[in-house]
Amino acid sequence: HFTIAIIGRPNVGKSTLFNRLVGKKLALVDDRPGVTRDRREGEAQLGDLEFSIVDTAGLEQSDPDSLTGRMRAQTEAAIEGADAIFFVIDARTGLTPTDRHFGDLVRRSGKPIILIANKAEGKVGTAGAYEAFDLGLGEPIALSAEHGDGFSELYAAVREALPEQTALPDDIEEDDTAPLVLGDEEDGSELDPTKPLRIAVVGRPNAGKSTLINRILGEDRLLTGPEAGITRDSISVDFVWTPPRGEARKMKLFDTAGLRRRASIQDKLEKLAAGDAIRAVKFAEVVVLLLDATIPFEKQDLTIADLVEREGRALVIGLNKWDLVQDQQKLLKELREKADHLLPQLRGMAVVPVSGLEGTGIDKLMAAILRVHELWNKRLSTGRLNRWLEGAIERTPPPAVSGRRIKIRYMTQPKARPPYFVLFGNQLDHLPTSYERFLINGLRETFEFPGVPIRISKRTSS
Ligand code: GDP
Repeated sequence: HFTIAIIGRPNVGKSTLFNRLVGKKLALVDDRPGVTRDRREGEAQLGDLEFSIVDTAGLEQSDPDSLTGRMRAQTEAAIEGADAIFFVIDARTGLTPTDRHFGDLVRRSGKPIILIANKAEGKVGTAGAYEAFDLGLGEPIALSAEHGDGFSELYAAVREALPEQTALPDDIEEDDTAPLVLGDEEDGSELDPTKPLRIAVVGRPNAGKSTLINRILGEDRLLTGPEAGITRDSISVDFVWTPPRGEARKMKLFDTAGLRRRASIQDKLEKLAAGDAIRAVKFAEVVVLLLDATIPFEKQDLTIADLVEREGRALVIGLNKWDLVQDQQKLLKELREKADHLLPQLRGMAVVPVSGLEGTGIDKLMAAILRVHELWNKRLSTGRLNRWLEGAIERTPPPAVSGRRIKIRYMTQPKARPPYFVLFGNQLDHLPTSYERFLINGLRETFEFPGVPIRISKRTSS
């Protein structure tokens, strides 16, 4: 078993990276320096790789006077115990003297170092990532721990750094025409049914969120008995949902109402509303965007849906106040079409009519949540994926761009939550966005990812 230590100066995003790899997206991370508490250890999962990971935050709260000294001691201890190091810098701020100081420390250790330029989302981060070459620690991997970008590159780097663990099985020849074997012959899933499914209900004020949530929790209370109870902490409510047919499932609901109770004055409430939606979306695995069916798809609704896509969460649309709708069949058809049209990047998402007031549609809504959660966790086998890819490329080959022959050789899905695909080939930097979209749409339709954001990245060998 391998251990990787995350090293870097405060506030470069070590904890976000740690959380991302360990899967505890709940731990609060924010922009102020020194927010993280202890030195933490966890089991990281990166594609099919598993290793222990150590986060060396903690010290960031220590007395500024002794900061460097204590940090150094702690860092040295972590390096000592590790087989490899993730050395993290902030691509947005560029290199600082402290980065160089820590860089010297890790270089002296002689251990394999994977240099990570974090916060590299978008173009802004690229310059900082280049600057990181300066450390003399090899080629930096441009990553966004927060947004989940760059993880396939990180995956490849870890494989290279840990050759023992990543050696291919004996019977497989390493040649560049064969798909990279990720060890999964069957379709898989990252779903852990023992963990509560995290849900948030978001939507404009007065869409009926509180009414619906109370309805969901109320019914649960009837099903599980008063002793089983519902526990509320500051941000979420735990409960168990038992579908009419099927097994009971632990769930965790973002407590929109709780937040509202704490906001007293109107001004504060409105401010809270925007930040609240962001926090709710970040909290959740599945987001229910609750619309008032009598005034559906306002601008604010679409902004929230965009946020869901960007954060890589699964989406279900609830059409609330369905009891007020006259021609229900017609409106449902209309709104389903509208949803696909307005939110093509989440196409096919479940659109479920409900009435929080009358308590109708709740079972269907919960069923849609469970289903999309399953799909969001799904991992396709490399074999299946490449059989599909071959056909898709044959029917519609990638275009030649200014005389360059673009060749897609194979693809894999190193991770789910949301589904993340990596294309391997030549000249992929020149692959037009339209072709990428073509592939994403194909994946969405062939393998069923309705309401699930799909990520694709490219690794090009020339
Ligand atoms: P929130 O701001 O999204 O939490 O909305 P509330 O749950 O406070 O509901 C806003 C208003 O809509 C209240 O007056 C509710 O009684 C009403 N409401 C909520 N759900 C329904 C529904 O399913 N049907 C109808 N007719 N009214 C509803």
